Amino acid sequence: LVALENVNKHFGDLHVLRDINVSVNRGEVVVVIGPSGSGKSTLCRTINRLETIDSGVISIDGQPLPAEGRGLARLRSDVGMVFQSFNLFAHKTVLENVTLGPVKVRGKKKDEARKRALELLDRVGIASQADKYPAQLSGGQQQRVAIARALAMDPKVLMFDEPTSALDPEMVQEVLDVMTSLAKEGMTMVVVTHEMGFARRAADRVIFMADGEVVEENTPDEFFTQPTSERAKDFLSKIL
Ligand code: ATP
Ligand code: MG
Repeated sequence: LVALENVNKHFGDLHVLRDINVSVNRGEVVVVIGPSGSGKSTLCRTINRLETIDSGVISIDGQPLPAEGRGLARLRSDVGMVFQSFNLFAHKTVLENVTLGPVKVRGKKKDEARKRALELLDRVGIASQADKYPAQLSGGQQQRVAIARALAMDPKVLMFDEPTSALDPEMVQEVLDVMTSLAKEGMTMVVVTHEMGFARRAADRVIFMADGEVVEENTPDEFFTQPTSERAKDFLSKIL
């Protein structure tokens, strides 16, 4: 469903993505882990062209991402994004946050978008907060709104970049629970996270990145019990 072939990216002299080859199959949950600065966020951002790449090909559903134009806009809207910092529209209600994209970008009718938004808010457990503003919600609730907003666009794949890192500890689980149920329902997901419990339980595959390279790629069982590279062993010894 998503394929990166020989993708390279530099920021000036810094080679942040080095010959990345990654593919994500339909319905698969891929967890990306690795030390700070290893290029995890950049990888996520290149997949929907929030960042350009210097060489290589990224394709979604067999279609190479063009550099610009309408084709790009369409493919990009197939990739949903959930960020660490929620990025909700502060001056819109929860419901408006979820309906805006479908109405403006997908051309959905307002009442249809509203109906679907309420279903999605219910699914992430916050239908009762629909008319509140983001600032009136807890961090965990805001992140669940962000997930509902991403789902409202009917993405083919959902990318999460450290979705729980900005949350107070007691709110981490409610967001992970929503993610786990999406994974069970067959959503294709790429998740950058430091939540190793989630990786063990929900991932089909773990990708370990260091210094802009994919160093190891394995099932969570194999990766956590028998990492093969020194860098992965070192990383795991620090966090487990
Ligand atoms: P973290 O775990 O801290 O989020 P990460 O693995 O997500 O790290 P990236 O954010 O992808 O790492 O950054 C990879 C490298 O690229 C880092 O050295 C970072 O400083 C650098 N970098 C990221 N964005 C930019 C940018 N816009 N301009 C210049 N350098 C950047
Ligand atoms: Mg990052």
